[in-house]
Amino acid sequence: MKITIWGCRGSLPSPGPTKTKFGGNTACIEVQNEKTCIIFDGGSGIQNLGLAIDPEISEINILLTHLHIDHIIGLGYFQPFYNPKYTVNIYGPAGSTVSLIERLRRYFSPPFFPVRLKELPASIHIHEIDNSSFEIDDFILKSEYICHPGPTVGYRCELNDSVVTYLPDHEPALGASHFPELNEWCSGFNLSKDADILFHDAQYTEGEYQSRVGWGHSSMTDAIRFGSLSKVKKMVLFHHDPSNSDAQLETMFKENLRKEHIDFEVILGVENQVFNLA
Ligand SMILES: [Zn+2]
Ligand SMILES: [Zn+2]
Repeated sequence: MKITIWGCRGSLPSPGPTKTKFGGNTACIEVQNEKTCIIFDGGSGIQNLGLAIDPEISEINILLTHLHIDHIIGLGYFQPFYNPKYTVNIYGPAGSTVSLIERLRRYFSPPFFPVRLKELPASIHIHEIDNSSFEIDDFILKSEYICHPGPTVGYRCELNDSVVTYLPDHEPALGASHFPELNEWCSGFNLSKDADILFHDAQYTEGEYQSRVGWGHSSMTDAIRFGSLSKVKKMVLFHHDPSNSDAQLETMFKENLRKEHIDFEVILGVENQVFNLA
């Protein structure tokens, strides 16, 4: 499978001259295999993905982790929604009292957006998931609720023997007195265990995290410790803080490499980066 990062910024699209290396578009990852297209989250990166989509593909699957605005802000600008040739399946969690389709209609309605969901020319199918297992063509997907404000799932995506895990907004250290300690009690562990690639929230420095406990994000240090606990082969640090320049991200990363004992591959997510798994 081929995996492409279309956006790895968190919280707010933040283009600018100091962010040209890692990019300013918010969360969007494409996983593709022959004619299957799976998209994790509809952040602002999904706009460029929609413009580059393989013309042979007519069915698209968008898997939302949650409905914070940085993960859906690009949906209205996703060109396949405006072409009747496409069938688009949207997966995601419901709210505690509101269905997924109702939550999506809030975004696709004035004053937030001029076009309503029912007016989009593509054929759209909504699938509510929670702690679920399901298949999309040859892919096996697992979703589970993870630690983040509001109903939020992470995803494990398997094809043959390859595993990709996507946990863009995740605070597994919340409430843990000695994080990470017991993996069976750790949020997200079942999804990330032994993954070939783990995309994981690494928004803050350790110092920043101390005043942002409970906001739903991880320090880069906790993210690396979570990757180590999960015994992943490669970790892609993700959901970069919108205020961080390329230079600040590289400094954060170097400090963590210096102080943490890391025995697996860890890299910073970069927009337009491509990974290939057998
Ligand atoms: Zn986010
Ligand atoms: Zn969020």
